[in-house]
Amino acid sequence: MRFLQADYLFPLHSPPIKKGVLQVDKFGFIIGLYTPDQLSNIKIEYFPGIICPGFINSHCHLELSHMHNYIAKDTGLINFIKKIKERNSFSSSEIQDAIRKSENQMIKNGIVGVGDICNTLDTLKLKSKSKLRYYNFIEVFEVFKNKVDFTLSQAIKIRDTFKSYDLSANITPHSTYSVLPELMKKIYSIQEGVNSVLSIHNQETKEENQLFKFKKGGLFRWLSSINASKDIWENYSCSKEKIEKTDTIRHLLVHNTFSVKNDLMDVYYCTCPKANLYIENKLPNYSIFNIEKLCIGTDSLASNDSLSILEELLVVQNNSDFDLNSLLKIACRNGAECLGFENLGTFKIGKNPGVNLITNIDKMKITSKSFIKVIA
Ligand SMILES: [Zn+2]
Repeated sequence: MRFLQADYLFPLHSPPIKKGVLQVDKFGFIIGLYTPDQLSNIKIEYFPGIICPGFINSHCHLELSHMHNYIAKDTGLINFIKKIKERNSFSSSEIQDAIRKSENQMIKNGIVGVGDICNTLDTLKLKSKSKLRYYNFIEVFEVFKNKVDFTLSQAIKIRDTFKSYDLSANITPHSTYSVLPELMKKIYSIQEGVNSVLSIHNQETKEENQLFKFKKGGLFRWLSSINASKDIWENYSCSKEKIEKTDTIRHLLVHNTFSVKNDLMDVYYCTCPKANLYIENKLPNYSIFNIEKLCIGTDSLASNDSLSILEELLVVQNNSDFDLNSLLKIACRNGAECLGFENLGTFKIGKNPGVNLITNIDKMKITSKSFIKVIA
């Protein structure tokens, strides 16, 4: 049994505790939370800094890790998507090596759960033995009518293989502009169970808004040039019209860089600030989001130089009014709630969420010198 104390303890299901003490058993399960005056004659381990639960990386593409430094910065989403198609021009050992190193980086950076986008089975081997919790989003996109059934059947095969290894997996649409309405309908019709989550790239570029609203812009021109079906945009005036809200499916809309207040629904949103800066050199307007439902992710190493939630938080902090408790909810609790990681996200008694120490906090602000250490 260990008693861990820091300058502030952030349980996240209850308010922060000054000089709070966290009791954990040898497996990391939370046994108790105390104010310092509640304990005497007990060996307490004190750490300068703050203590919070393990982080949830709500949006990642682990299988793209080998594309680190491959795509130039600030060249826009359409260019990025075109370059990502070169993902297969690497050897399988390069791909596997990069996946392994990236997961190690996430573990070192205090990440305990991941919402991971998969187009392949490349990460299966690692995940089948991993100590991290993964929600695997098997992503589909298809803009040609005659290919819809084939594309979906391939994705179902990948989903079922993940499931046969006892890993959670669900089919999800890539975005509203890359999926035909009939495919979208089919994806909704095969959602099963109470833990069904869809992760959809949303309003990552202004060209997505232009496509639906005005039927013009770079995305419109590109989709038209490859003879994509007009059904994708013709009868819609914005992205959210393509999303079916139901009571049983949770939605996680990712990026939202070009969203305005009017676009938002009562769903979970995920921000990936460093990837937004990398691809479009633009950040979302953080004042529009409900902080109880905002999550955070690193996206892949194809559009980031690290997989660190702490670094992402620093960018959000510097571009929003969020206080430290809100930032940590975004980093831990909200993602765990959205992805159904019921054991993670807060220091509620009985959970096993991991324990992160963050040092070099200045007046309750994360700084560029802040450092993360996993302490339980
Ligand atoms: Zn993504």
